[in-house]
Amino acid sequence: MDEQQLNTLRHSCSHVMAQAVKELWPEIKVAIGPSIENGFYYDFDKKEPFMPEDLKAIEKRMRQIIEKKPEFKQSQMSKADAIKFFQDKGEIYKVELIQDIPDEKVSIYQTGEGFIDLCKGPHVKNAGEIKAFALLSVAGAYWRGDEKKAMLQRIYGTCFPSQNELKEHLKLLEEAQKRDHRKLGPQLDLFNFYQDEAGAGLIFYHPNGAMVRKLIEDYIKKENLKRGYELVMTPHMLKGKLWETSGHAGYYRENMYYFKVDNEEYAVKPMNCPGHILIYKSRLHSYREMPVRYFELGTVYRQEKAGVLHGLLRVRGFTQDDAHIFCREDQIRDEVKNTIDFVFDIMKDFGFDKSEIELSTQPAKFIGSQKNWDTATKALEDSLKEKNIAYKINPGDGAFYGPKIDVKLKDALGRLWQCATIQCDFALPERLQMVYVDDQGKEQRPIMIHRAILGSVERFFGTLVEHYAGAFPLWLAPTQVFLIPIREQQIPYAQQIKEDLQAKGFRVIMNSRNETLDKRIREGSLKKIPYIVILGEKEMTQHTVAVRKRGAGDVGVLSVEDFVKKLTEEQQQKIA
Ligand SMILES: [Zn+2]
Ligand SMILES: [Zn+2]
Repeated sequence: MDEQQLNTLRHSCSHVMAQAVKELWPEIKVAIGPSIENGFYYDFDKKEPFMPEDLKAIEKRMRQIIEKKPEFKQSQMSKADAIKFFQDKGEIYKVELIQDIPDEKVSIYQTGEGFIDLCKGPHVKNAGEIKAFALLSVAGAYWRGDEKKAMLQRIYGTCFPSQNELKEHLKLLEEAQKRDHRKLGPQLDLFNFYQDEAGAGLIFYHPNGAMVRKLIEDYIKKENLKRGYELVMTPHMLKGKLWETSGHAGYYRENMYYFKVDNEEYAVKPMNCPGHILIYKSRLHSYREMPVRYFELGTVYRQEKAGVLHGLLRVRGFTQDDAHIFCREDQIRDEVKNTIDFVFDIMKDFGFDKSEIELSTQPAKFIGSQKNWDTATKALEDSLKEKNIAYKINPGDGAFYGPKIDVKLKDALGRLWQCATIQCDFALPERLQMVYVDDQGKEQRPIMIHRAILGSVERFFGTLVEHYAGAFPLWLAPTQVFLIPIREQQIPYAQQIKEDLQAKGFRVIMNSRNETLDKRIREGSLKKIPYIVILGEKEMTQHTVAVRKRGAGDVGVLSVEDFVKKLTEEQQQKIA
């Protein structure tokens, strides 16, 4: 079954679900029910919330409907007739949808003698073709995604061609739920959201999370410096005038936070680009020193609707590992190719070995000349081809200032996560009048490449938590070693080991409380600490450590020296 057939099957299943809901609660109003990635949903207007037992009842009724194998029958209605038809049934959402349809006739589908829905189709011929489905969850959803409109209830479901495929998918969902970073983050004391007190879409890093983040940031800074990038830092707010010159005010204003300082308009930066350009322009650049590469861990703020915020993945304030490469036109290809290599090196270190690459082209709303767009798109495409990298084209999905390459990581469960982006830009250097001096002493316009490798550090952090199910590899673990002295007599020895390891830069905690050994071992494993080290009488007299490795269990007794050597190697090699 290809993707389109699967979508048709799933969408058909949403009709059957709506029919079941209407049969069980005739007073409910129905809204829309499309297929989505891995399933479908339908939105309903119902006063009382759907309960888990309601979903079971709906599933049961759906099975009864499917058993009768009703056919999906299409018919046409004039707009006026359709409005009257749905108005009489009290289906106000359908009426609103019909009013927005420009055509004179609208398409209607009926399932057997049952549910009649406004729909363009397509559907399966017969609802009997729906073999394996499950209803998954209920969530609130605003009518038309608008928080000023009615809050509806969205029932999510999934549907597969066979029971086996459905079972496999449900297993994956269960595993994904266990790895949900919104659950693991607070559980492992990494981060939290204080939505009511502090605001939505804003992240607080607790000591454990701040440590992981420091490790990520130190690493990424070092890797940038190794590859000829220079570190810069720019302010969080800039004058509105600058955003006008840069084009952001015109093309991005709805995503920005504006306010006044000294009676002048300012905006919190949604991007770091104009700041880097000001630094570039602070002096004259010769063709010989190109490319200039500036890197910043730049924190930006963007307007996002409350309804789309999601854990660390969709937030209002986040930090990008943002760089801008200013180069000559003849350098674009090499810079893009080097950046692609850079991306893959970093992803390997973080334990990702699979990804999908997308090339996004000119959107409807854009700045810059057509010639420049064509040149930039070709440069990106040629770089991918020369590196023999498979990619998919996303027509019209580029940034307003240029085409881009996006890298989506495949995690341990095979799910895709947006991370790196490489974007060509001919427009900003023009708007902000950037120049370099060529070999004839003439002023030329540099080309700008925006690139982020982790993307948003927040989103990347969330991806890492789910990829590793919270069990970070040694080099990223907030605590690497958990020390347990068995009896009080071993506390000084444990203290000594703790200090030795800390002096060597390892992150160690000790639990010397008067609790059972089992309880303390359980604490270490619940915290997902890579090594639990148990120190008893024998270990103390022989100056050794009894080591338990996360996921592998008991690995035996080692000399302190050998243990340090083991830790050092594992950390340096970034073993996952
Ligand atoms: Zn339909
Ligand atoms: Zn940029």
